Amino acid sequence: MGKIIHYRKKCIGCGICFELQPELWRMSKKDGKANLLKSIAKKDLFVLSVSNAIQQLTQEVTRACPVKIIKVL
Ligand code: SF4
Repeated sequence: MGKIIHYRKKCIGCGICFELQPELWRMSKKDGKANLLKSIAKKDLFVLSVSNAIQQLTQEVTRACPVKIIKVL
């Protein structure tokens, strides 16, 4: 098991995470930022537990985010 961590506050709403991984991300109609689906809020962070396979796939999204606010553990 792995974890995806999203520092949502600093999201600039570019939509790349949603384009690359629509099964995990949605763009908010309220503020234009990305939401990590089914994640749990912990202060400014949103955390989602994922399988090793999804963890690996998310590495690409992590690299593609222009403000580097997606981390994979
Ligand atoms: S790629 Fe990064 S900055 Fe762009 S919408 Fe996703 S989280 Fe926000």
